[in-house]
Formats: sequence, C-alpha cells, structure tokens
Amino acid sequence: MYIVFLGAPGAGKGTQAANAARELGLTAIASGDMFRQAIERGDRLGLKVKDYLEKGVLVPDEITTEVVLERMSSPDCRGGVVFDGFPRNLKQAEVLDEALKRQNNIIDWVVYIKVSDTELIKRLSERLVCRKCQTPYGKGAAYTEGKCQKCGGELYQRPDDNIETVKERLKVYFNKTAPLIEYYKKSGKLLEVDGEGGVDKVSRNITGVLRKRECITR
Ligand code: AMP
Repeated sequence: MYIVFLGAPGAGKGTQAANAARELGLTAIASGDMFRQAIERGDRLGLKVKDYLEKGVLVPDEITTEVVLERMSSPDCRGGVVFDGFPRNLKQAEVLDEALKRQNNIIDWVVYIKVSDTELIKRLSERLVCRKCQTPYGKGAAYTEGKCQKCGGELYQRPDDNIETVKERLKVYFNKTAPLIEYYKKSGKLLEVDGEGGVDKVSRNITGVLRKRECITR
C-alpha cells in the first residue's frame, strides 16, 4: 500500500504520517527529514540542499526525486510506503506515479490534513524538533525539558521555522503544492481530514477515514 500525506507546513503531516506508517506496518519516507539529516551530517547532499531549506523554497525536482526514488528502492519499502512531504508539486507527483507504475503499483490513498492559516503559523512558531530523529514537539512536557522522549536527542527550533521563512514556505505551499489536492481529488484518492485539535484527535480522524477505506481492519 502506498499512501501520501498532504498538507501545509505545520499541518501535522510528519507526526501523523509516522503514526500511520507504524499502525499500517509501512515504511515512512519524509523528504524534509532526509534533507535535514544530510545537512546535519554535512555530506554532499546536505551541502547541495542547505540553501533551499534555509530560504524555505523547494529543493530542485531532480535532486528530490533522485533521493526519494533511491530510498523507495530499499528492501524495507517493498511492503509499501507512507510519503510525508513528497510529492510537493505536480512534476513530482507524475514522477512518483510513473515510478510506482514501473513496479505495478499505484498510490492507494492521499490523506489531506486541513488546518487554518492562523493555526499553521502558531504551530510552526512554537514547534521544536529533535536534532537526531526529527520528531516534532508542540508545547508540552518534552518541550520544557528540551530532550526528545523517543531518543533523548536535543530539541531545537528548525531554522526555517522563523516567521519570515514560514511565510515563504506557506507561499510555496499554496502556489506549488496545493494544486495536488485537485490532482488527487480527480483520481478519487483524496481523503480530507480535519487537522485542527490535538495530535490524538487528528490521529483518530485519520484512523477513521482509513478504516472506512478498509486500510485498517481492526
Ligand atoms: P518539511 O520537513 O517537509 O517541512 O521540508 C522542509 C524543507 O525541505 C522544505 O521547505 C523544502 O526546502 C525541502 N523539501 C522537503 N520535501 C521536498 C520536496 N518534496 N520537494 C522539494 N523540496 C522539499
């Protein structure tokens, strides 16, 4: 099964995609996490993408699709994938469709997490992320302790979560990524989910729509 998580920055895609992957026994591929990890390592990919992430604009499609398609070819992706942050524009969506077609696979569902603009800006400006495993945290206990509850890593504010870059990222989202909502709606794959409220409430909304489509049978 192949599921795409779609939504604006701050909609909760990362957290919800990771939860869904665990629940469905699929592998999560998060393009943004892969880029940030490469930047932390300071490797060739990291050097190539650093400027784009700092500015809040999209990494060129050739780089992004190469990284994601290579990751998809790993053995742990054979059983299916939950995509978080990919595709981000129509070109990437087409490349993904073609790559899956070559393997006789298709995108099964697209979970679109809908959140209001004011809530997005609030969440992004408060968010901390684990430097090691990329788990995001909103305000709460872990937040004040400054340590990741999963791996003990240091929590930090993503450099692209400052207000100027957030505005740029939202602009990029509405211009380039939002047209994907129509693209997937046309193919009958779009599952719209209310993303307002706490993580658990949104998780329940997502489980509900996936259960209706018999992705989750329990
Ligand atoms: P994210 O963690 O999904 O918010 O992504 C952080 C940043 O990584 C974005 O602002 C882009 O600069 C870059 N990025 C992540 N995914 C993609 C993608 N599919 N295409 C292009 N750039 C991406």
